[in-house]
Amino acid sequence: MVKKGKQVRYELNPNGIKSMPDNEIKTILRGADDLILSGGRAMLAKILAGSKDKKLLELELHHSPVYGAFKGVPQKEILAKIDWLILHHYLAIEYNGRLPLLVYTDNGWDIERETYADELLEKLIDAAENRTYEFVETLKDRNRSLILLLLDKIANSGNKELITILDAWKSIEYKKVRTRIQEVIELLEKVEEEPEKIHNQEVISFSANKQWLSIPAEIRRKLEQNVWCVSCCDVVKIERYTVKEFPTGIVLEGECHKCGGNVARVID
Ligand SMILES: [Zn+2]
Repeated sequence: MVKKGKQVRYELNPNGIKSMPDNEIKTILRGADDLILSGGRAMLAKILAGSKDKKLLELELHHSPVYGAFKGVPQKEILAKIDWLILHHYLAIEYNGRLPLLVYTDNGWDIERETYADELLEKLIDAAENRTYEFVETLKDRNRSLILLLLDKIANSGNKELITILDAWKSIEYKKVRTRIQEVIELLEKVEEEPEKIHNQEVISFSANKQWLSIPAEIRRKLEQNVWCVSCCDVVKIERYTVKEFPTGIVLEGECHKCGGNVARVID
């Protein structure tokens, strides 16, 4: 299979690039995913440039989500970016016979796996919404660590709407993945209803707390001791309060130090 002959030489030239933004690193690594041990730097540059190259179209590489991501950037500059990634150990070159092919380094694969798992999570959510459960067939026989990361992300999403599609997925998977899917289903089943609402409340109280804490401590203490209690008909100290946000400002809601009744104080 491997033809004898001179190895095709290559020369890396990062063209003076000093650093690379994270999103560009992710984009290039995403493009490399379809070429691992099957394609080289030039083909990756063509994918990123959105080239109509015949071989690229034959291999259906134009379906890559990053096809044309660097449209308009000269090929030479795209190659320089790719070479920068190789020189900084995100990608590496391995020979298969005569040809220098792209592979991920551990570091590069860690980044790409995150990107890819996020992408799969989005697709899975879409498939669940549209009830196109056959999507799960595309998840079979994928890289195991990618799939386990995806399952972690599903668990963290707390999205109960995914349980049905997870059941469908579970029915076609091998034992190890099947066990993990079942665990994730059980986790999601325990998620309380309306997680969004709870989440929003948390965000609001976080913002309210932040406003409250922006008031100097000494003044805060005075405010706490200057709350009107209707039951006691007196100015009392507020205890065990939470800070809530209203359009008019923040409000302390808690208990009266003397009688334990509910008291509140508007902070304006
Ligand atoms: Zn009271």
